[in-house]
Amino acid sequence: MPRGRPRHTGDDEKCRLCREAQESVAHVVSGCSALAQTLYLTRHNAALKILFFEMLKGYQLADAIPPWYSPVQPKPVYQDDKVTAYWDVPVFAEHLQVRANRVDARFVDRENREVMLIEMSCPWMDNRKQKEEEKTLKYAPLRLELKRQHPGYKIRQFNIVIDALGGYSRSLKEEVKTLVGSDRYREVLRRMQKAVLSHTLHIAKTFKVMC
Ligand SMILES: [Zn+2]
Repeated sequence: MPRGRPRHTGDDEKCRLCREAQESVAHVVSGCSALAQTLYLTRHNAALKILFFEMLKGYQLADAIPPWYSPVQPKPVYQDDKVTAYWDVPVFAEHLQVRANRVDARFVDRENREVMLIEMSCPWMDNRKQKEEEKTLKYAPLRLELKRQHPGYKIRQFNIVIDALGGYSRSLKEEVKTLVGSDRYREVLRRMQKAVLSHTLHIAKTFKVMC
C-alpha cells in the first residue's frame, strides 16, 4: 500500500498528530497532547505574561509593559526589598513532599505578608469549571508547604482560566481585579483575551495547513 498523506474520509478519524482522540475542533485547539508543549504553551505564556507584567508594574518591579503581541518573555525572578516575583520557578520544598511544585507565577509580598500563586489555563469552553477545581486540588500540598515556609502569611491561589475562544467566568473578573486593581482589570482581561484568541486562530490555521 502506498504511504502518503493521511486522508480523511469519516467523522470518527483519529487526530493526525497524536492518534489518540477524535479530531474535533475542541481537540485541535485545546486537547491534543502533541501540541501541549509547543503551540498551547506559547498561547498560555502569551496571555499570562500580560497579567504578570501588569503585576510587576503595580509593584514597581518593571517600568514598561510589552504589547500583548510582543515575543518578550519575563525573567525568572524580579525582586526588591518588599516583593519577589517568580515566573515558572519551582518551589523548593523544605517541609513536605510536594510533587506539584511548579506554579506558573508566584509573588511573595513581604510588606502585606502574602503569597500569591497564579496558574493559567486555556481549556475548551465546557471544561472551565473542571479546570479550576483540578488546579486548586493539585496545589493543595504546595500551599501547605508555603504556609510553613512563610509563617503568618496569607497563601492565595488564583486560577486564571480563559477558554480557548477567550471566554471567562465572572469570578475571574474579581480575581484579576484583586491582582491588578479596579481601574486596570478590564483592560488587562481584554488584552489577555486577545492574546488567547489570536493564538487559537493560529493553531487552527496551522492544523489546517497540515491536512
Ligand atoms: Zn491530537
